[in-house]
Amino acid sequence: MKIIMLGAPGAGKGTQAKKIAAKYEIPHISTGDIFRANIKEGTELGKKAKTYMDQGLLVPDELVVDLVVDRVNQEDCKNGYVLDGFPRTIPQAEALAELGQKMDYAIDVDVPDENIIHRMGGRRACVGCGATYHLEYAPTKVEGICDACGKELILRDDDKPETVKKRLNVYHEQTQPLIDYYTNAGILKTVDGTVDIDVVFQNIVEILGA
Ligand code: ADP
Ligand code: AMP
Repeated sequence: MKIIMLGAPGAGKGTQAKKIAAKYEIPHISTGDIFRANIKEGTELGKKAKTYMDQGLLVPDELVVDLVVDRVNQEDCKNGYVLDGFPRTIPQAEALAELGQKMDYAIDVDVPDENIIHRMGGRRACVGCGATYHLEYAPTKVEGICDACGKELILRDDDKPETVKKRLNVYHEQTQPLIDYYTNAGILKTVDGTVDIDVVFQNIVEILGA
């Protein structure tokens, strides 16, 4: 099963993509995670990506497309994958279509802008493994410490309120047009992303099939 997660930054794409990947035993491919890993390792790609990410802007298509093409052509993606944070522009969607791999579902996790600002302020990310939590909605067992690896949690620089507003504008201008694109392709499914994490997931499972 090949699945695309759509939605504003902070809508819950990553949260749901991880649950989908675990249930359906397919790789979770997050371009944001790939960039953050590159930043941590100090690679050239990481250095270039960081300048855009810190400003709340999208990384240019030419830096994103090739890495996703390489990733989805790997052996473990044969039976499918869940793409989280890609595509984010029409040219990226066209590049994906050109690969000739038929996507089964584009799931739009729908959350109004008002909720997003609050969500992002409470999101915490692990400095070690990148796992994400929420102070209120998905807390860790011990405050400030990652359940998975025991490292420290931080507020991502790009989750600070001013950057979130910028990212939301960028989302509406450059990414939201993908909703029409995948509606026209006949694979768009919308779920209400404002309800509990487990309820959102149940609704996704109803779409994908148990
Ligand atoms: P995205 O990958 O779309 O940027 P995340 O999955 O990281 O978003 O979710 C953003 C924040 O909101 C995280 O802190 C996450 O724990 C929290 N979150 C995700 N889904 C929900 C939900 N349905 N209700 C409340 N909080 C949620
Ligand atoms: P995310 O973790 O998905 O919220 O992504 C964090 C940041 O990485 C985004 O705000 C962008 O700057 C960059 N990014 C991730 N995926 C893409 C993409 N497909 N195209 C362009 N930029 C991306």
